[in-house]
Amino acid sequence: MADKSTILIVDDEIVSRYTVEVLLESEGYNLVFAENGEEALEKAEELVPDLMLLDVMMPGMDGFQVCQILRANPRLAELPVVMVTALDDRESRLRGIEVGADDFMSKPFDRAELRARVRTITRLNRYRRLMETEEHLVYLANYDMLTRLPNRSLLIERLRQAIGHARRHRQGLAVISMDLDGFQIINDSLGHEFGDEILRETALRLSQVVPIGTTVARLSSDEFALMYESSSLVNDVSTLVQRILDCISKPFTMDQHEIVITACIGVSVYPSDGDEPLVLLKNANTAMSKAKGQGQNSYKFFTEEMNALALKRLILENHLRKAISRDELRLLYQPQIDLNTGRITGVEALLRWEHPELGLVSPDRFIPVAEETSMIIAIGEWVLQTACEQCKQWQQEGLPAIRVAVNVSSRQFQNSDLLSTIKRVLNDTQLTPSFLELELTESMLMEEDLDKKNSSFSMFRELQNMGIHIAVDDFGTGYSSLSYLKRFPLNTLKIDRSFIKDVCANGDDAAIATAIIAMAHSLQLSVVAEGVEEEMQLAFLKKHFCETAQGFLFSRAISADDMRVLLEQNQQVVAPEKASF
Ligand code: C2E
Ligand code: MG
Ligand code: MG
Repeated sequence: MADKSTILIVDDEIVSRYTVEVLLESEGYNLVFAENGEEALEKAEELVPDLMLLDVMMPGMDGFQVCQILRANPRLAELPVVMVTALDDRESRLRGIEVGADDFMSKPFDRAELRARVRTITRLNRYRRLMETEEHLVYLANYDMLTRLPNRSLLIERLRQAIGHARRHRQGLAVISMDLDGFQIINDSLGHEFGDEILRETALRLSQVVPIGTTVARLSSDEFALMYESSSLVNDVSTLVQRILDCISKPFTMDQHEIVITACIGVSVYPSDGDEPLVLLKNANTAMSKAKGQGQNSYKFFTEEMNALALKRLILENHLRKAISRDELRLLYQPQIDLNTGRITGVEALLRWEHPELGLVSPDRFIPVAEETSMIIAIGEWVLQTACEQCKQWQQEGLPAIRVAVNVSSRQFQNSDLLSTIKRVLNDTQLTPSFLELELTESMLMEEDLDKKNSSFSMFRELQNMGIHIAVDDFGTGYSSLSYLKRFPLNTLKIDRSFIKDVCANGDDAAIATAIIAMAHSLQLSVVAEGVEEEMQLAFLKKHFCETAQGFLFSRAISADDMRVLLEQNQQVVAPEKASF
């Protein structure tokens, strides 16, 4: 088969050039010649040959220099170069390797050897080019050249796969369609280059703001679309969409001009708004048009029901932002009872939000919102400060010293300031660290990220060295392995109240509760049973040597003043059986 590889032969001697021509004549290559270094570089740039046969000894620019210049040129850096040196000139070969030659031959050429080498190198090179072309074609078919984002066809393909996955795992999936406001005007008035730059910057901002695993695609001109998978769609999507709108509306700085652009977004959700890629895309687009009708910088879900939910949540979020400054947060305290003495040894601080219109909002409703929007950092700090202050105050009033337990969410742990916040609060309030307990959930111990785990591990250590107690809340609902419990610096396990509820009626629950108590004791941890409501449950726990309990049987979460009264009663020594709460 004729090989149409192009070979550039660089030699100042006409006899040498002629010899090569004769030797390779019958092979069907496209042979090109250059008489000196400059000409060689020019022709290489112009033709991008498959192979260069380069003589080292040439007047003017020699072969080493030519090779060095080639290697610095991105287009030619990979061009195979065979250097032609004098027979067994070791020095030259070493220099050749330094400047990037791929192979060496010496004159006079051996016909068979020259043919074989040229054949091998050109074949490899052609193969590489073929692969590159193929890859490039696949790339072109799936990506947008301006922004390097996936294009419509790749998005549709990924949607198809994700729908299958969501169907099998009963997961939520959202398609988010986004269009810049007034982009056409910018393009027309400031020019296409400026417009392109805005689109590239938009792509970058989108990619940076979305969670890992989200596909960001560019569909056409200023139309982008995202595919987002989550288990709690309405909450997560409205948070994400708001983050997208915020990041787009930050000023773009270009050529020292500042320009502000906004976007509108429409969201459709699988399976309620469709179970096919094209339908979901179309519905997201319809919702986006509705958002446009509503004004700039806004978003809409496809269904009214979703819009109502999103609105409710937005109202909650906006109100929550003002909760601290408006002094609407309250801390209640629920006693923890030592089952051997019947006395209060600690309290758990439980948060309430007293809103003038919404009424008393339960933490189960607003803590998740606070966590998603990082308001939990400020709220958590307020809780810590208030709880420590209160605990210290009771002590100063001469009440028996008890420990205060504060719930900490994982977002607070991921925040690097937590340790210094705790130190500052303890210093401000002058509370002895051993009177503070932090309650974390099992899932926090199981952080998947190893680095994070190590850093939170050392933070736990430091907290514990300071004397602070660490408790695992709702224990039994997560999947902590024994090795985690052994490794982590812990003091207490709190048995989740779902196991206590039927502990007297359900054999499984009884077995789990007993096993947790036994395991905790063998690891030298103390145990608190949560949600104790009945005497029978209490009797069970005592029988199995659980040392502490918390629950409505003793007291609900009550105000600090009511707690003071309980603590005052607690001062009188009472026999364990007669202790009353
Ligand atoms: P948790 O930490 O497991 O708190 C115990 C919850 O069980 C409290 O609900 C408490 O009132 C309730 N409880 C106590 N005894 C009984 C009982 O005998 N029967 C029943 N049915 N329930 C009982 P609450 O106060 O509504 O708090 C719910 C969750 O909100 C807490 O669960 C905690 O995860 C979270 N939370 C509360 N305050 C804070 C806080 O300050 N920061 C953070 N991050 N989370 C908090
Ligand atoms: Mg708790
Ligand atoms: Mg709990």
